Amino acid sequence: MSTELINVADIFGENVFNDTVMQERLPKKIYKNLKKTIEEGKELDLETADVIAHEMKEWAIEKGATHYTHWFLPLTGVTAEKHDSFISAPLPSGKVLMSFSGKELIKGEPDASSFPSGGLRATFEARGYTAWDCTSPAFVRQDAAGATLCIPTAFCSYTGEALDQKTPLLRSMEAINTQALRLLRLFGNTTSKKVTPSVGVEQEYFLVDAEKFMQRKDLIYTGRTLFGAMPPKGQELDDHYFGTIRQRIASFMRDVNIELWKVGVSAKTQHNEVAPAQHELAPIYAEANIAVDHNQIIMQTLKRVACQHGMKCLLHEKPFAGVNGSGKHDNWSITTDDGINMLEPGKTPHENTQFLLVLACILKAVYKHADLLRQSAADPGNDHRLGANEAPPAIISVFLGEQLEDVRQQLISTGTATHSLKGGKLETGVATLPDLSKDATDRNRTSPFAFTGNKFEFRMVGSRDSVANPNIVLNTIVAEAFADACDVLEKADDFELAVHDLIKEYMVESDKVVFNGNGYSDEWVAEAERRGLPNIKSMVESIPAITTDKAVALFERFSVFTKAELESRAEIEYEAYAKAVNIEARTMIDMASKQFIPAVMKYTKQLADTVIAVKEAGVDAEVQAEALTEVSVLLKETKEALATLKKVTEEAAEKEEGEVQATYYHSEVVPAMEALRVPVDKLEMIVDKEAWPMPSYGDLIFEV
Ligand code: ADP
Ligand code: MG
Repeated sequence: MSTELINVADIFGENVFNDTVMQERLPKKIYKNLKKTIEEGKELDLETADVIAHEMKEWAIEKGATHYTHWFLPLTGVTAEKHDSFISAPLPSGKVLMSFSGKELIKGEPDASSFPSGGLRATFEARGYTAWDCTSPAFVRQDAAGATLCIPTAFCSYTGEALDQKTPLLRSMEAINTQALRLLRLFGNTTSKKVTPSVGVEQEYFLVDAEKFMQRKDLIYTGRTLFGAMPPKGQELDDHYFGTIRQRIASFMRDVNIELWKVGVSAKTQHNEVAPAQHELAPIYAEANIAVDHNQIIMQTLKRVACQHGMKCLLHEKPFAGVNGSGKHDNWSITTDDGINMLEPGKTPHENTQFLLVLACILKAVYKHADLLRQSAADPGNDHRLGANEAPPAIISVFLGEQLEDVRQQLISTGTATHSLKGGKLETGVATLPDLSKDATDRNRTSPFAFTGNKFEFRMVGSRDSVANPNIVLNTIVAEAFADACDVLEKADDFELAVHDLIKEYMVESDKVVFNGNGYSDEWVAEAERRGLPNIKSMVESIPAITTDKAVALFERFSVFTKAELESRAEIEYEAYAKAVNIEARTMIDMASKQFIPAVMKYTKQLADTVIAVKEAGVDAEVQAEALTEVSVLLKETKEALATLKKVTEEAAEKEEGEVQATYYHSEVVPAMEALRVPVDKLEMIVDKEAWPMPSYGDLIFEV
């Protein structure tokens, strides 16, 4: 265990080509040009890029870097990188120089043919380009490969279509910037120059012992267990949540934090989560595109450091059935360059017209595009969480809390809000404890989209998924609502009157999406149905939302996606779902055929031998015989369920790719997988532990 003292302030950002480094190393003029590019979105000329590239290379080499990579987020959901070393062609002397040009910095050309494009690009047109996103700083990553200069980039096709998550995210940030500035100007703000969405992402994960992990093919191939009976103790005692962090885990967290701080990720909070072996990490919020990149870095770092500690980090949304799954809370607000948070209600929100308009716009946007928001959180793993009693339901609703709900009610009923509820004092009843001043609003953990003080918290996102999509959707739908509002208000003769009417209009219009009760209850599901709110239960059913006329109009209006890009994304989602379920089904078939059935057969032989031996000894063997019968019956059920799963999996492969195939996997293969699991899990409960071919849930989650 390392007890070496660390000075966080010293190591923070030491491997980032950040503003301080640039200011120190770049000639003044170059630095200014770059700042202009970053702040005003101006294009970077090659001459400037050459100088930056040179300095970046020198700096990276000082950090030990031998290679650079354009680091991007293709539509596979995991970051991609292709490494090039800095060496140039050997000189006549036989030596090499280390070189890195502006062109290499701003543009890369990986062979793109193996990345999903959803039909956007024919395979023979393999060209794809990566382009430097200079708003997200380059960094040096140290790992087993040595040190690598990572350059965050966007990834596009030869014809300019986005093949990644960053491009549309940056486009959506431009959209909300433009529209939010329009709105601010209406309220007399002349000073703010830029508005960006701020995003803070809470990341949940599981840790399991690496040796045990390696004994489970399901974990290796799919990231989750496909079989497994519940241990005698689950999470019912709630003794893990915020519990004392065990030493092995604490030492892991320490190393994760150090690694993250070095690359400029402001890891802030860490704690144990609800399920045994489950933990959470949250950094301090940052601009949306940086937060999205940082979240990818966090996921990579968790995995890498876990390996160094003899553990495996599971990012899957539902690694263990019957135990809480993992999600990612996407905290979102809108901030101006001069520090105004447009979601800050102030002490008396009823008087804060600008805030009320922003709120009304967000409510309207979420109501109108609930299907898109829901879709943005869909991935194969999240199908096991959303709608179960641990994660938000699959129904999008908004929680406002007492204070804002009261203001909203006043606005809806009378058109005017005259007062705001106060927080007051929290009396502990203990004289020596200070009276805490109470927030005006309690928390609600069951809402998928909750207002939490000065931000919204979107809680549906899956733990393994990128947060790019949810933020693209949020930025764009809110930009649309702002634009609609500004279209009306900019023309209004009497601004005060018009804004007042508009707030009321939007609040009335979106009334149905507000729900402050228990989102986990069955009553809410029924109530939501009465209200006509969509309840989209699965990923496959959510995908059509991407290409509705409403979605196409929205995204094209703000140049975030073209119709072709949306169609390709829908295809990619169907494909991703089909592939994921196919791998799971085949893994189950493999495990059942090669591990469970042989193990149980052996065990039945043992039992049969016992029955005979007991009988020969002249004793009644009824109990042994009963056990043998019970095991044999379940074994037969297993074989039958296996045959069915094999059959439907083969059929699925024959289906037409896309919606048809994905739907077949969802409606036929998934149920067949569940059916196979049932007898195997029952067998696990009665077969001798010694005879069971892999570690159990208990071994995995209680013995890390
Ligand atoms: P919780 O109690 O939900 O865990 P925290 O205060 O720990 O809330 O915040 C969770 C995340 O939200 C952190 O990443 C934090 O930096 C981020 N956050 C805080 N304020 C804002 C804001 N105004 N906009 C966006 N994210 C924010
Ligand atoms: Mg939270």
